Amino acid sequence: PSAHANMKDKADRATTEQVLDPRTRVILLKMVGRGLIDEVNGCVSTGKEANVYHALTPTQSHLALKIYKTSILVFKDRDKYVSGEHRFRRGYSRHNPRKMVRVWAEKEMRNLKRLRAAGLRAPEPLEVRENVLVMSFLGDQEGWASPRLKDAVIPEEQTAMLYEEMLITVRTLFHRCRLVHADLSEYNVLFHDHHLYIIDVSQSVEHDHPSAFDFLRNDLKNVEDFFSRRGVKCLGLRRSFEFVTREVLPELDGTESLDDVQELVADLGDSDLPPVKSNASDARHATFILRRWLSESPPQLDESLTPDQDASQEDAVFFRSHITRSLNEVFDPERDAAAVARGENRGLVYADALGLVPRDDLKASNVEVIEEADTEFDDDDDDDESE
Ligand code: ADP
Ligand code: MG
Repeated sequence: PSAHANMKDKADRATTEQVLDPRTRVILLKMVGRGLIDEVNGCVSTGKEANVYHALTPTQSHLALKIYKTSILVFKDRDKYVSGEHRFRRGYSRHNPRKMVRVWAEKEMRNLKRLRAAGLRAPEPLEVRENVLVMSFLGDQEGWASPRLKDAVIPEEQTAMLYEEMLITVRTLFHRCRLVHADLSEYNVLFHDHHLYIIDVSQSVEHDHPSAFDFLRNDLKNVEDFFSRRGVKCLGLRRSFEFVTREVLPELDGTESLDDVQELVADLGDSDLPPVKSNASDARHATFILRRWLSESPPQLDESLTPDQDASQEDAVFFRSHITRSLNEVFDPERDAAAVARGENRGLVYADALGLVPRDDLKASNVEVIEEADTEFDDDDDDDESE
């Protein structure tokens, strides 16, 4: 049979359970025609919004096809990611599901490119055609997909290192890609080749999205929860948030001996760090700071509390507090910038991330939470099934 008939046959079989609409099948057939793919095999994953298929190129290398569903219902709750997102001001039609889905697929492609450009581990996006995103396949030579972090069997002695890798990744994502994942959890990270690979970035938002800090806080809560459950000593939500958002991490203050420094980073071969292109020293420095913070006990706000109670209470308060990314909403940026210039930066939790605070000024004990304006965020607390 011709390649096309063969493909049609295989597409038929692959999709009998998860019916693809005729238009999507035409897109796949055209990809065969252009020699990008040769056959579509089984479904790696069926989700609410997309299915992921394994495919082979004509030269038998593996690819992943993420095919977004074009039914309108499941995309309704995506409005929260889109509102306030300047890239979506135009060209987002809530009434045309095909167009909507195309926008999400294209967004995932662009975001994956940004991750890769920053040297982060993620699938390589190859092309997007309407609702079909073609990317490199994360798996083994036989075509078995690598497990999600949730399902991965990880040697216990590696988990602490992976926690570090995760936080450095989120920091790089924030400062270099200028993105917040916004659905980060053990469901959207693959354990591949002994490292963490970030996937599912179609809903990721710009770091200046009005809810970017809420999304980031949720992301970090998932990270802290997952690694704590695995017995890793974590920073705690507030400190991890600070670690990720601080524009400038404290410099080594000179009290460290060269031996201290070398001991802390000794086991950090370059391969253990995200391969950041132009800024490898930042990842190394950040890892050093992270290890120092991890070795310190959590800062105490109230001496009457034990450190543990204090840390978890502090986190609870922080988690409930509302931090808005939009300066216009609650804050007066000129007033705040003037206050910072006068050295009165207390209470400006967000100031450091905006680069307003001179480094080292944002001591943990100076940070006060900004009271929540509404309870909207609490309603989502139980919603940790972030598939
Ligand atoms: P969804 O929106 O359905 O959550 P994801 O992007 O998270 O879509 O992909 C769903 C699943 O498909 C993932 O959990 C993972 O198991 C698998 N998957 C996604 N991308 C790849 C890839 N590039 N290589 C291998 N498996 C992948
Ligand atoms: Mg997912």
